[in-house]
Formats: sequence, C-alpha cells, structure tokens
Amino acid sequence: STAVLTIDGPVSSGKGTVARLVAIRLGWHLLDSGALYRVLGYHAKNQGLALDDEPALVELAKTLPVRFIEQEGETAVILDGEDVSNIIRQESVGELASQVAVLQPVRDALLARQRVFAEPPGLVADGRDMGTVVFTSAPLKIYLTASAEERARRRFEQLKEKGFDATLATLVEDIRTRDDRDMNREVAPLRPADDAVVIESTTLTVDEVVNRILEEAAA
Ligand code: C5P
Repeated sequence: STAVLTIDGPVSSGKGTVARLVAIRLGWHLLDSGALYRVLGYHAKNQGLALDDEPALVELAKTLPVRFIEQEGETAVILDGEDVSNIIRQESVGELASQVAVLQPVRDALLARQRVFAEPPGLVADGRDMGTVVFTSAPLKIYLTASAEERARRRFEQLKEKGFDATLATLVEDIRTRDDRDMNREVAPLRPADDAVVIESTTLTVDEVVNRILEEAAA
C-alpha cells in the first residue's frame, strides 16, 4: 500500500503550510481534507440546505462536484467549474465546515473521497482525523499544535494577505469556539493518535517544523 504521512492539528496550527511544503520536498501528493469539509459546507449553504439535514448532506457529500487541481505547488479547488480556492478560506466557511463535520454519516460519506488520494509515490494528508480515522495504518503521524494566541496571529496574517477583514480579538474567540467544537464533538474528536509525534510549534518557524517532520520521515 502507498506510504501516507498524516498531519493533524487544530485550526491555524500551520498544518496547511507545513503539509504542502513537506509534500513538495518528498514529491508526494497532498490531501487538504479541510477543503473538502469547507466545500461541502459552502455548497450546502448555497443550495439552501439546513446544516443539520443529515440525509441531504450525505447525498451532497457523495455527489459533491469538486476537483482539486495541483498547479505550481498550489492546489486550486474547483466546485462545479468555479474556482472557490479563496472564498472557502473565509472564517464563515470554516464555521459551516465545522458544523457539517459533526455528523458521522457525512464523515463516512467523505471517507472514500479522501482515501483515493493515497497514490504512489506517497501522500501527505492534512486534517483533524487523518491519523485517527482515515489513514490509521500510516507509518508516520504528526500532531501539530500551538497556543491559541499564536494561531490567531498566524490566521490574522493569512486573512490580511487574502484581503479579508478580521481583528485579532475576534480570531482568538473564533479559534477557541472551533477548537472547542472540534475537540469535544462526539464523532472523530480532534486528538493526537496514540502513535503520533506531537510537535508544539508556538516558538518554531515553518522551516523548523518542516525539517523536524522530514527528519522523522527519514528515521
Ligand atoms: O482545516 P480547516 O480549518 O480547513 O477545516 C475546517 C473544518 O473542517 C474544521 O474546523 C473541522 O471542523 C472540519 N474538519 C474535520 N476533519 C478533517 C478536516 C476538517 O472535521 N479531517
């Protein structure tokens, strides 16, 4: 079976950036599973679905017309022919994603859509439950975290770059709310896999984290 390296962690822990760089360095495929939840939440909202309408959301999860296109180290997310790469990064869409993500049948419907990314020569899978649910037999599992304040600061920079408005105080609040929901939900709660390597990145640079993971991968 194909080699898989999982990177899980809370919102804005730097997983996305780190996972992409590690994938590039290894020459492996990349799965941004959060994007799948974001697209689902976004599409459901646009279709006027209630975010607790389980049967309709499951159907949508199975038929979601989404494609991920790798280009120059970036992944374009195409929904129904429209490039939604930027719009799904908004806080409001993250909120929608985390609401549909509490439904077990919805998560089950997305399993197969995630596992197909495990193709030779290898896959770096970024998310919340990559090591605990989706790729349980991955030989290397990373759990990346940082303080809520540091994560809010990183998120702030990211949003500013994309031209979205935000204040630090609101972001710390948003992050605490989303952490709380992701960690305390009944289905696939966010936690390190028993065999995960935990990296606390509050005082580390992106390069330091990437190198640390590559060292683990080479060991
Ligand atoms: O990582 P990102 O912020 O893009 O994920 C958005 C939301 O999707 C998370 O807050 C979480 O609720 C949900 N999610 C999940 N499982 C994953 C990836 C994301 O539940 N593997």
